[in-house]
Amino acid sequence: MHVLDKTQIEAVAVHSAKTRQPLYAPRKKIFPKRASGSFRRFKWLVMAITLGIYYLTPWLRWDRGPFAPDQAVLVDLANRRFYFFFIEIWPQEFYYVAGLLVMAGVGLFLVTSTVGRAWCGYTCPQTVWVDLFLVVERAIEGDRNARMKLDAGPWTARKLSLRVSKHAIWLVIGAATGGAWIFYFADAPTLAGELLTGTAAPVAYITVAVLTATTYTLGGLMREQVCTYMCPWPRIQAAMLDESSLTVTYNDWRGEPRSRHAKTVQAAGQPVGDCVDCNACVAVCPMGIDIRDGQQLECITCALCIDACDGVMDKLGRERGLISYATLSDYNANMMLATAGGSGLVNPSLVRTADGQFSDKVAHFHIRKIFRPRTYVYMGLWSLIGLGLLYSLLTRDRLEVNVLHDRNPQFVTLSDGSIRNGYTVKLLNMIPEPRTIVVTMQGLQGAEMSVVGDDIPAGRSFAIPVEPDRLKMLKVFVRQPADQIRGTAQTFKFRVEDKASFEADEYTATFNAPETAK
Ligand code: SF4
Ligand code: SF4
Repeated sequence: MHVLDKTQIEAVAVHSAKTRQPLYAPRKKIFPKRASGSFRRFKWLVMAITLGIYYLTPWLRWDRGPFAPDQAVLVDLANRRFYFFFIEIWPQEFYYVAGLLVMAGVGLFLVTSTVGRAWCGYTCPQTVWVDLFLVVERAIEGDRNARMKLDAGPWTARKLSLRVSKHAIWLVIGAATGGAWIFYFADAPTLAGELLTGTAAPVAYITVAVLTATTYTLGGLMREQVCTYMCPWPRIQAAMLDESSLTVTYNDWRGEPRSRHAKTVQAAGQPVGDCVDCNACVAVCPMGIDIRDGQQLECITCALCIDACDGVMDKLGRERGLISYATLSDYNANMMLATAGGSGLVNPSLVRTADGQFSDKVAHFHIRKIFRPRTYVYMGLWSLIGLGLLYSLLTRDRLEVNVLHDRNPQFVTLSDGSIRNGYTVKLLNMIPEPRTIVVTMQGLQGAEMSVVGDDIPAGRSFAIPVEPDRLKMLKVFVRQPADQIRGTAQTFKFRVEDKASFEADEYTATFNAPETAK
């Protein structure tokens, strides 16, 4: 069948597993052809969602009352707060962020061990932005052949205008990317106004400039080189894959021997596989590889070659899946079938019945294959950390007291013989509303406390207002009469309480006295 003769593409893999070029060889340009199919549609969807989240999130508002910013997601460096919708994280609660990073790491292990480098192929910012830059490139310069022709042609006014337009739009995307990033660190509408009127802080312009340059360079100019040479993930991922992990696979057990002249070969009595050597899979590959060479470090498993090949198989009236997501164990089983137990070359007729259908012995993927002890462990670990964080978040205190005992002097003997200790009491009101906090002493018989610089009368309890979302620091003196002292180091408690919300916290402190005072 020569249906495809007109559509066969003269595409050669830029990076070939068979002929590896030196790492320092000049870059060969890649002109990926536009793909269409279910994976491409899925990638469009992921791209729209991820870019939408990135660019729009800083503009979402979240009402926290008059004493806190109303930006839903905000890293408030000046006040050392991180706001995420209804959650507010203080610096000492950074372990939530650390926990989320650990969850992200375990999640990445889970995803990689089940569906291979899905992160790289669908959601990695490098992949998403390169895809976006390619959309611009195709819209301006055309698809693969037009771009190759333009690239090889002389510099004309048309070529110059196309190139200038493309790079200008790339720079605008880069600037929008850098702009969106800084909006996470300040009130977005205010900062946008300041940027446009030239009144923003220099660091804002510098950050936008740096991110514009990196986005333009990495996404527009370097593209696949970032994944191949700069990113460590392709190297690390090998340790996470096993024979039950799904990866994009060329099923040579049904594709080989490949031929562009299947009928002629068949007529000559030679075995011929499903691959018509049309190179459609090579032409669409953004990494410039030929998946038929086998698993390669460069492959980001974007699955566009699956779409391309499925399109070819549809035209030929053959089963889809010559290139497919497959596990190594299924692939090996089918290869054993096609090579008669590994004793010969691939003979695709061995995997088919007389009527041309696949034999029942052909192994096909089933979802249960990816559920194995390893994935259960990852899922369990991920859920455990997630539930732990959630529990901690829902039960965390929003009122805290921390106390520092004066180091020098440890105590002072007053003229009446009583002993005085000094403390720095830190009251943390961690809600965006003002509160009145009652501070009470528990224990330390006969002792009283007084607040330095405040006209609160000495006693065992006092009430003090604390501003919303603020830490209030008090210098407190605790005095105990000499006849009440029961040791050189007595413990007692500072108890703080918000009578309105019934939230409370305690801190056990030590009261020091000299030997002679006992
Ligand atoms: S070989 Fe296929 S899955 Fe791998 S990067 Fe190329 S197009 Fe994507
Ligand atoms: S694997 Fe599919 S797309 Fe690639 S050359 Fe063979 S038939 Fe064409």
